[in-house]
Amino acid sequence: MTAELSVHFRRRCDAIATRWRNQLGLANFEPLAARQLAAAMTATLYRPKEVPNLSAEISTFMECNDKWHGVIVSFEPRTILYNPQQSPAGFESTIMHELAHFLLHHPPIKLYALTTERYYREYDDLIEREAAFLGGCLQIPRGGILWAKQGELSKEAIAAHFGASERMVQWRLNTVKF
Ligand SMILES: [Zn+2]
Repeated sequence: MTAELSVHFRRRCDAIATRWRNQLGLANFEPLAARQLAAAMTATLYRPKEVPNLSAEISTFMECNDKWHGVIVSFEPRTILYNPQQSPAGFESTIMHELAHFLLHHPPIKLYALTTERYYREYDDLIEREAAFLGGCLQIPRGGILWAKQGELSKEAIAAHFGASERMVQWRLNTVKF
C-alpha cells in the first residue's frame, strides 16, 4: 500500500505528527483524539443531519448508508462530513485521514467529480496513499509504536490505548522501520 512513498515523505509525516502532538502538549506515546486535532486545526466535523441546507432526503440517505466513511466538503473553512455509522476506531481513522489531506495541502477533489470516472481513478492515486500514511502517523506516531514495542504491548492493548483499530495497529507495526 505504501511501497511508492519515499523515505523523505514518511519522515515528513512523522515530523508533522510529532509537531501537532507537541503543540497540544502530548508525547508521542499519548493518544490524540481526532476531535481534539480537528479542533486545533479549526476543522469542523459534521454528520449529514447536522449540515445546514442539506435536504432531509439526502441527509437520511447518507446517515443510513455504510458505503462511505468521510469526505471533505470545504477546504476554507475546513469542513469534513463523516458517516456516523462507524465504529469509534473507524471514526478516528476516517477523520485523521481527512485531516491529513489538509495538512499535506492536497488539492480539493471537486464535488462534481465524485460522480465521474475521474474520481474513481483519482481515488486510488498518490494523494490517497499519502493521506492514509499521514493519517496512520497522526493516530499512532512512530514514537508511539516504538514505545509500545518496548513495553511489549499486545496489538489489542495498543489499539485500545490509541483508540485505533487492530488493523491500523498491524499496519503501523508493519510500516514503522526499526
Ligand atoms: Zn482521502
